[in-house]
Amino acid sequence: MTVLDSRYDTQIQTDVDPDSEFAAALPAGVSGARSLLGEVAPAAPTMAEVEDIGAGHGPPWLDAWLAEHGADVVRWRRHLHAHPELSLQEYGTTAYLSEQLTAAGLRPRVLPSGTGLICDVGSGPRCVALRGDIDALPLTESTGALYASTVPGVTHACGHDAHATVLLGTALALAAAPSLPGRVRLLFQPAEEVMRGALDVIAAGGLDGVDRVFGLHCDPRLEVGKVGTRVGAITSASDLMEIRFTSPGGHTSRPHLTGDLVHAMGTVITGLPTLLSRRVDPRSSTVLVWGAVHAGEAPNAIPQDGVLRGTLRTGDHETWEKLEPLIKELVGALLAPTGVSYELWHQRGVPPLVNERESTALIQAGVTAALGDQAIVDTEQSSGGEDFGWYLEQAPGAFARLGVWSGTGRQRDLHQPSFDLDERALLTGVRVLAHTALASLTAESDGLGVGTAPA
Ligand SMILES: [Zn+2]
Ligand SMILES: [Zn+2]
Repeated sequence: MTVLDSRYDTQIQTDVDPDSEFAAALPAGVSGARSLLGEVAPAAPTMAEVEDIGAGHGPPWLDAWLAEHGADVVRWRRHLHAHPELSLQEYGTTAYLSEQLTAAGLRPRVLPSGTGLICDVGSGPRCVALRGDIDALPLTESTGALYASTVPGVTHACGHDAHATVLLGTALALAAAPSLPGRVRLLFQPAEEVMRGALDVIAAGGLDGVDRVFGLHCDPRLEVGKVGTRVGAITSASDLMEIRFTSPGGHTSRPHLTGDLVHAMGTVITGLPTLLSRRVDPRSSTVLVWGAVHAGEAPNAIPQDGVLRGTLRTGDHETWEKLEPLIKELVGALLAPTGVSYELWHQRGVPPLVNERESTALIQAGVTAALGDQAIVDTEQSSGGEDFGWYLEQAPGAFARLGVWSGTGRQRDLHQPSFDLDERALLTGVRVLAHTALASLTAESDGLGVGTAPA
């Protein structure tokens, strides 16, 4: 038996639609389910039992909205979790979000691709954008949760169900506010996992007229109630590389009469990372790692073709700009004496996500107002990629990490089939985004800069 959180009981119930009224009414302890492996998973608390950690932090309209709709927020997340969709196929997700927004009197606009939404709340020339991504991953869920994926081979293992839900809750809570100091634009972004949804949102005018843009990502290493912030780069650039090698091939006794393809590949495998480390600033955290090497079969035959594939990451924007021509130069220099031909394919991914200083201070002000100043913790730059970085090429903004770990039990990483989150984070997420939007709009309207964030 796997116990994620000892607060929850672990009895078995397998035939409950997680989105049903019955599921909402279940008492704790009767909502466990068997996983594919036959394990009994921990039961989730009922929707109405999910605690609002920030209750009482105000403003009164936000406290009141969450008291009334907290269970709805959990229900939305469980629905989205049970019905995940891959990048650029988020049609059902888009329709579901649109339905809730429209029912609240808002007017969402679907992106030209047919998935993802843009929706404004409030009015006036000042505008802050909040982004939540909505796509799932091609993995088979193993949580055994009551609300587990009903789609074979697809699951929300990156928490984008929570991101979409938090943004939806924020939209509806803000729509219930008696007044707002400006406009809040909600960006329900598709296709983050394939690193292109942000560009689609920008192309659709998602950042037009926006003063600042903010976003959150679930962090399973951070306890619920905490939010990780950082000035500067918080994720890294990530490019894909492939090199295809060709040679006439031949007998291994006569390498001088052909191009020794395997030796040439070995030269690039070890030589390219080494040369890179001498041609780029080591402080840029640039790292090239090969993930696939294929060539040859027989021990006594020099093969005619081979392929190398890998990722090239860097934490520094200026370095990222220089990498493509530099790689081209170094691969050419390494292979010139070998007599082996090659084709280099370099796909630039996303830029590093670099948090702007004032925007980071604003998100910290939002966290403090929402949950208290003990909620803010420092976070590190990850070597992973995040396409929110494209937004910050266009407008100032900041991205933070939302604690989703229950505080006890194993910490399951993002992109693991067993990933799940503590649903109290849905409500802390709504509070943080709502307060960040208010802090940002108020700062813009005062015409004041904000305090300097700790570096
Ligand atoms: Zn992901
Ligand atoms: Zn993600």
